[in-house]
Amino acid sequence: MSDRILLSVVIPVFNEEENLDELIRRCLLACDQTRCRFEIVLVNDGSSDGSAEKIDAAAKNNPGKVVGVFLNRNYGQHAAVIAGFEQSKGDVVITLDADLQNPPEEIPRLVDAMDKGYDVVGTVRLQRQDTLFRRVASAIINKAVQKSTGVMMHDYGCMLRAYRRHIVEAILMCREHSTFIPILANSFARATTEIDVGHEARKQGQSKYSLMKLVMLHFDLLTSMTTFPLRLLSILGGIVSSAGIGFGLFLLLMRIYYGAEWAAQGVFTLFAILFIFVGAQFIAMGLLGEYIGRIYHDVRARPRYFVQRVSGDSNINSETDTKGQK
Ligand code: UDP
Ligand code: MG
Repeated sequence: MSDRILLSVVIPVFNEEENLDELIRRCLLACDQTRCRFEIVLVNDGSSDGSAEKIDAAAKNNPGKVVGVFLNRNYGQHAAVIAGFEQSKGDVVITLDADLQNPPEEIPRLVDAMDKGYDVVGTVRLQRQDTLFRRVASAIINKAVQKSTGVMMHDYGCMLRAYRRHIVEAILMCREHSTFIPILANSFARATTEIDVGHEARKQGQSKYSLMKLVMLHFDLLTSMTTFPLRLLSILGGIVSSAGIGFGLFLLLMRIYYGAEWAAQGVFTLFAILFIFVGAQFIAMGLLGEYIGRIYHDVRARPRYFVQRVSGDSNINSETDTKGQK
């Protein structure tokens, strides 16, 4: 492993007072093992317990190794990680959770995998220590993400990941507010891989995600990935309208064969007409959705591409300059 590579470890911290000492101790050990030059960036996401003081003390006791970033209030895990990215200087940036669910001892293995030249190294949690509800929700989401992004990663929920500098820069260029970092990173990555990692139950404290926060996170994930749900409206409308038309034709035929009594004096005909109009409304909403989807894409203003490097230099500019002077 090269010791010239600079490694940054970015950790979002929200009310993790009880975990911080052990976290920092184990992270320092793990980073030492990599024999890289490293920094640990702890981002205090507006904690209301003693986390801020602990981070301050750690930064003071480990100069050049631990950096604290303090947000003025709670902005959420992904915003905190982005703040850490902004501060980080490493060629390789690793993110992990502060609650010790992701063992810091996996850091050297992530660095090893990065050494093989990947842009992103994801992880798969073996024997995941979370509630059944969380695991089932994750399984559904992972399948959906695989389908819509085409990137076959098995565990998007695990934040123990490594990113190369240019991927981090690309993420920083996305100014959108709702982000889900693993998916955003993969949308810029060329070569990705996954390794298996251990997973532990939360050491101290409770999950910082209430049910509502979890639902909101999944909306972020969905909208950061695709505008397909908006298109779903048109598809639904199309189906309802066609069903209405089919039903109408069916009623007409039955009416011709069996006479007026069969059709219950036109009640069902009304239904058929209603279906057609309801469907038409959905199609119209879907059409609005198409515009909104495009507005959303443009407002987000994600970079269309990202230049990793330019080689060689032309002297066209300097020549025109000198011509201009003549
Ligand atoms: N976190 C954060 N801001 C928040 C919520 C969570 O910085 O608003 C951090 C938290 O301190 C932890 C990580 O994000 O380091 C993951 O949170 P948690 O363990 O509560 O999530 P879970 O494991 O339940 O998905
Ligand atoms: Mg956790």
